[in-house]
Amino acid sequence: SAAEQQQTHQTTCCYCGVGCGVTATIENNAVVAVKGRDDHPANFGRLCVKGSSLHQTQHSPDRLLKPRLHGNDVSWDEALDYSAKKFNDIIAEHGPDAVAFYLSGQLLTEDYYIANKLIKGFIGTANVDTNSRLCMASAVVAHKRAFGNDAVPGCYEDLEKTDVLILVGSNAAYAHPVTFQRIVKAKQERPQMKVVVLDPRRTPTCDIADIHIPLAPGSDAYFFNGLLSYLASHNHLDQNYIEQFTEGFEAALEIAQTQSGSVQAVAQVCDVAAPLIEQVFALFAKNEKVVTVFSQGINQSSSGVDKGNAIINCHLATGKIGKEGATPFSITGQPNAMGGREVGGLANQLAAHMGFDKQDDIDRVANFWQATNMAQKEGLKAVDMFKAVDEGKIKAIWIMATNPVVSMPDADFVKRALEKCDLVMVSEAIADTDTAKTADVLLPATTWSEKHGTVTNSERCISLQKGFLPPPGEAKHDWDIMAIFARKMGFSEGFNYVHQAEIFREHAALSALDNPRARAFDISAMADISNDQYDALEPIQWPVTAQEPKGTKRLFSDGYYFTPSSKAKFIAITARLPVQPPKSDEVIMNTGRIRDQWHTMSRTGTSANLLSHTEEPYIDIHPDDAKRLALAENELVELSNRGARYLGRVKINTAQRIGEVFAPMHWNNKYAASSRADALVNPFTDPICGQPEFKHSPVKIRPH
Ligand code: SF4
Repeated sequence: SAAEQQQTHQTTCCYCGVGCGVTATIENNAVVAVKGRDDHPANFGRLCVKGSSLHQTQHSPDRLLKPRLHGNDVSWDEALDYSAKKFNDIIAEHGPDAVAFYLSGQLLTEDYYIANKLIKGFIGTANVDTNSRLCMASAVVAHKRAFGNDAVPGCYEDLEKTDVLILVGSNAAYAHPVTFQRIVKAKQERPQMKVVVLDPRRTPTCDIADIHIPLAPGSDAYFFNGLLSYLASHNHLDQNYIEQFTEGFEAALEIAQTQSGSVQAVAQVCDVAAPLIEQVFALFAKNEKVVTVFSQGINQSSSGVDKGNAIINCHLATGKIGKEGATPFSITGQPNAMGGREVGGLANQLAAHMGFDKQDDIDRVANFWQATNMAQKEGLKAVDMFKAVDEGKIKAIWIMATNPVVSMPDADFVKRALEKCDLVMVSEAIADTDTAKTADVLLPATTWSEKHGTVTNSERCISLQKGFLPPPGEAKHDWDIMAIFARKMGFSEGFNYVHQAEIFREHAALSALDNPRARAFDISAMADISNDQYDALEPIQWPVTAQEPKGTKRLFSDGYYFTPSSKAKFIAITARLPVQPPKSDEVIMNTGRIRDQWHTMSRTGTSANLLSHTEEPYIDIHPDDAKRLALAENELVELSNRGARYLGRVKINTAQRIGEVFAPMHWNNKYAASSRADALVNPFTDPICGQPEFKHSPVKIRPH
């Protein structure tokens, strides 16, 4: 019977950083149903609409099934022989910095590990960056500056156990729906739990908020500097914690007091009524259990790192960290943004949370890999990487599992740069993405349900994304494609893997620490798991060490940090507003997610069910602006900036502040060619971490 042919598999959702466990049912080599996995610590049985539609997006007619070279189907050998020779020729003539990889938070940790090993250890450049640069690069550096290491202190349970939950720049209702469902339930069970949302827009997340602070875009650091100043002036500091476990408090407080020394000063720059701000300051001050969640509204900014540290400063000043229900908490966007960080997936990182700032780290990684040409310095970050492609300095780029022609700021520039690049390789599951169209070499990759490996979610939880269906056509796993390519380039020694578990064990062994106080990321206790144990891996939160073999819920509970002094560092923050204020004939465009789409729609766009929630590109605009510009509901309007334009229907909406519009970021050339919002985003970046300012682009607006 049909029921007898059915099998179920435990896996992980491939969309967002919540990292929900999924039970998938297959029948005749097709996923026929999915449901939330009851015993997964991220979701306990829940799924959002994207996750519960996974089976509807599984069998796309647009799958790429064969390698292509200059538009023609070729064998794997032809495609990779051509590419490897071209890479070698370019490197021989121009050096290793003339090539680059651009990766994705959709890749599995094992894929990420091989990419970094190949390019940093053997090709000899750190020109490897990822779309995670667009997502959480700010939080990474904020963590490193404050804690000495890129480590999220808390866990999801803290969001339920807290008394005051402050969500900053997070529309969790759309971007992290299952986490939001958990918050909603916690609030229903304990109505006294206060929820505060700081966001220029009144998003659906505000539906459960006791207080919404509609602050001026980019003014967050003024707000948190103001909070630090308030905590000091109202006698709510934890002096013991500050003295015992931190350093740099006085300097941080001095600047905070200078810039944001009174509630009135904060109210003025944030453009919010002072009593509302004071209410939030008092909630933070008077409650022991406070969690501050921060997400893209903080990170996607030209001062995102400073904003993250302004938040962390307030938690350190009150000792609200490392305790149940008390922590700052960066929520990542992608399913494996965290796993990528663990293997050094960014241009300025090395594997296992090591970095280019210490020669010892570089040597340790080089020795471990038996690297033949170890990169010695940081590579180019995403925005600069595509600039180097445009300038002809990078002559070969390999893009995997991401669509920068839609998602990068100034996306049309990225398209033009790729079109003139000598060699563009694209590994993709879908044949006709906007980026795939720029490829000289197009390589068919496996995707969810076929790929097999690990991902790490926002609470440091490593889960297996299980491969249970055979690859369609000639598709291969990303790690395997790279290993074959590496061997063809002549690096036969380091790339002879046959099972993903071998890569994972190597990654775990590299994380082993002589000194457990050296870094947070240590999964050395997993370095000898068998292939069978790996194939049945249960969710586990790192660190996973001999002392904590079952994983670690919270970090810093003992007040011990990973800085040279072992103390957490306050960072003195000079708050600043976005780079480019709008001119008198411009409005500020903010970009973000809608509920049922994921990134550039190459997967979620194929589900009629998901498309039906929001069928067309739109623009949210305040009634006063609509009146001023004589725009009517549903009228087509055009936003424009630097020659790029976004068409959308007007939605008149008091959720917007006056002078600010919202445009969803998802549409690509296939679904709405004239509505690629990121083409309008200026490529301004945070000077410390290189993350672009997606949340603040001055644009012109006019009826279409
Ligand atoms: Fe998937 Fe995120 Fe939805 Fe969970 S919340 S089901 S991980 S998209």
